[in-house]
Amino acid sequence: SGKLLDVKELYTSFYTHLGEVQAIRGVSFHLDKGEALGIVGESGSGKSVTSLSVMKLLQYPGKVKSGQIMFKGEDLVPKSNKEMMSIRGDQIAMIFQDPMTSLNPVYTIGNQIMEAVIKHQGLSKSEARAKAIEMLTLVGIPSPEQRVDNFPHEFSGGMRQRAMIAIALSCQPDLLIADEPTTALDVTIQAQILELLKELKDKVNTAIILITHDLGVVADVCSRIVVMYGGLIMEEGSAEDVFYNPTHPYTMGLIKSIPRLDLNEKHRLIPIPGTPPDLLNPPTGCPFATRCPYAMQVCVKEAPKFYVTNEGHRAACWLLDPEAPKVETTGGVKR
Ligand code: SF4
Ligand code: MG
Repeated sequence: SGKLLDVKELYTSFYTHLGEVQAIRGVSFHLDKGEALGIVGESGSGKSVTSLSVMKLLQYPGKVKSGQIMFKGEDLVPKSNKEMMSIRGDQIAMIFQDPMTSLNPVYTIGNQIMEAVIKHQGLSKSEARAKAIEMLTLVGIPSPEQRVDNFPHEFSGGMRQRAMIAIALSCQPDLLIADEPTTALDVTIQAQILELLKELKDKVNTAIILITHDLGVVADVCSRIVVMYGGLIMEEGSAEDVFYNPTHPYTMGLIKSIPRLDLNEKHRLIPIPGTPPDLLNPPTGCPFATRCPYAMQVCVKEAPKFYVTNEGHRAACWLLDPEAPKVETTGGVKR
C-alpha cells in the first residue's frame, strides 16, 4: 500500500502525581507517501502529543500506553531509543515553533546541516558543505555561499525557520513533522514559510504533517485534515470537505475563530467560549459537549462513534446519526 504512516488506536498518557492525564485516547489516522496532512486543534487537544508520540520524543512522565505507529510497515512503538535516533533526522524529521530552541548558537548554520548529512548520509566534508549550500538555496536563503558561514544569531527569525527546514530536509526524510512552524513569526513571514512548505512538498518527495491551531493555514497547504479535541479525532477529511463543508460543531467553531484579515484583527482569534475537558478525568460522553451549541442529552452520556458522510470524510458527532433531530448548523466557509 501507499501508506507511509499508519497510526492505529494510539493511547498516550502522562503519569503525573495527580493521576493519569489521558492526553491521547484512541487516535487512528494514516498518511500516504508524499502527502501533506494537517492536524488541527486548540492547545491541549492532543495534536502535539500525537506528533511527539510518533517521534518517540515524549518527555517523562509521558508514555505511549497502547496502539501501533506503523512507519514504512514497521511499528515504532517497541523501538529502542537507539533505533529511534537513527530514524529521526534520517527518515523522520521535525521542525518546531521556535528555531532557536533547535539551532545550536555556537555552530554556523552550514556546520549544522553538514553535521546531519555527515552523520546520516556519510558524506565527506566538502560534499557536505556543497550539500549545505544546496539546501540553503532550496529554502530560499539569499547568497547561500556566504550565509552558510553565518551563526544563527546573524539570521532573522524567518531565515532561521528556513534554515531549520533546510536542516530537516537535508537527509531527504520520508516524513517531515512541522509543529506550529510559523506561530512565532509575523504574518508576512508566516505566509512566506507556508508558501515554502507548499513548494517543497512538490520539489522533494517528503510527506508533511503540519500541526497548527489555525485551520486556515492547513487548508492552504494540506490535502487532508484531522481535527482533534480532548485527545480524540473529531473530524477527518479532505481539506476541501473539512474547510468548506465541516460536519462537526468543533470544526465549525474553529473556522469561526480563524483570524479575519478583513476585520483588521490580524493576530486575534475569536476563541470558542469555554475550556477544553480535564483529561485527568476525561468525560465519558462527547468531549465537546460542555461547549457545543447543539449538545443533546445523549452527548453527555455516551461518546459518539464516527459517521462517514462521504468517502474519506468522517466525524464523531451525534448530530450525524440518522435518528438525531435535524438542526440548522452554521460554520462552513462561504466561497
Ligand atoms: Fe455537539 Fe453532541 Fe456533536 Fe458533541 S456529539 S459535537 S456535543 S452535538
Ligand atoms: Mg503544541
